[in-house]
Amino acid sequence: MKILVANLGSTSFKYRLFDMCDADAALLAKGGFERVTEYTPCIEEMLETLVNEGHLQSAEDLDAVGFKTVLGKDLSGCVEADERVLEALDGFKEVAPAHNPAYAEGIRCFQSKLPNVTRVALFETAFYQWMSPAAYSYAIPKAWRELGIRRYGFHGASHKFIAERSAELLQRQDVAARARGLYVKGPGEFNGKPLRVISCHLGGSSSLAGIQNGVSIGGSMGFSPQSGLPQNNRVGDLDSMAIPYVCKMLGISVEEAERQLNKESGLLGLSGVSNDARDIREAAEQGNAEAKLASEVLIDSIRHWAGSFFFKMGGAEVISFTAGIGENDAELRAAVCADLEGLGVKIDPEANAKTIRGAEGIISAPDSKIKVMVIPANEELVIAREVYRFKQAH
Ligand code: AMP
Repeated sequence: MKILVANLGSTSFKYRLFDMCDADAALLAKGGFERVTEYTPCIEEMLETLVNEGHLQSAEDLDAVGFKTVLGKDLSGCVEADERVLEALDGFKEVAPAHNPAYAEGIRCFQSKLPNVTRVALFETAFYQWMSPAAYSYAIPKAWRELGIRRYGFHGASHKFIAERSAELLQRQDVAARARGLYVKGPGEFNGKPLRVISCHLGGSSSLAGIQNGVSIGGSMGFSPQSGLPQNNRVGDLDSMAIPYVCKMLGISVEEAERQLNKESGLLGLSGVSNDARDIREAAEQGNAEAKLASEVLIDSIRHWAGSFFFKMGGAEVISFTAGIGENDAELRAAVCADLEGLGVKIDPEANAKTIRGAEGIISAPDSKIKVMVIPANEELVIAREVYRFKQAH
């Protein structure tokens, strides 16, 4: 079964084509476009390339397209990407302005070009659907809560892959199977030995999730992908009183404040140098104090959220790092795990230093009670698997 996974970023379009057969997934092709302003020409070019390279006889040869949709109003899970999904994306377009309009455009484009190819949306919020009300509720008036303002959590496909893969690496097939079947079977009962994972997805956008026996208990992102850790250009957590105060003192509108929090904040806003962790580290090494502060704030924020999940889960067996920064920045990983021997975390400096550029491995010392892992991100595989299941079931 040929399944295309479409990943529509605010300025990029990436894709992977899988040939799925039961549990096996063969990656046939992958590619992408940067600095994208319109998705339709990219989608057309991609389909042409896949046919020219012989992966598809014609575009209609595709069995399904999977979309990593971000946030839907009153909708989550793995569902057919139909009008209901478009409405749900539209209902929260102001909350995820960099993501929702892009996915709506992409889904519409496939709808008009390949009307007979099944379209499936896997929401990034789906992995958090079993969070407790105590974990997802904000202390706001009822009328606000009725608008759907609550914590949702994001990067669900990435954290779900970590839930599966970390369990496999520890030979915990029971937990791996539970995580893998989650969207079909639900969490059900679990009576095995606990496996608690603090999953750190650190990239252009970053979040942490607490994962207990394959099921997420919460994430660092809240109502929007704007909250939690400082992101490349986005603010992360901020006291809500700062916005009216800044509007008044700087004489700017709420819209302008929102723009600055989305585009000129995060690592870029703090460092004044770049939104890229590599440039920031280089500047910090050359003595730039603001760049140093940006790095320190990111590390502090990761530790803050990791500590929260450690406490909520009553401990952890695994701390896992993934995505661009998590997979490559050995210094940051060491700083996140520094001085935690009292909690049972001990990094192996050599293993840590060599686990970069797509390598997978355990970077904690053999006598570390908590295993620290690096697992390359593989959200597309999670989406392809869910789309495959959706096709089998419908
Ligand atoms: P992603 O969103 O997973 O593609 O990650 C992109 C981010 O990874 C960029 O913002 C880079 O700053 C970061 N990154 C990539 N390579 C490195 C590296 N060697 N050291 C630190 N950060 C890196």
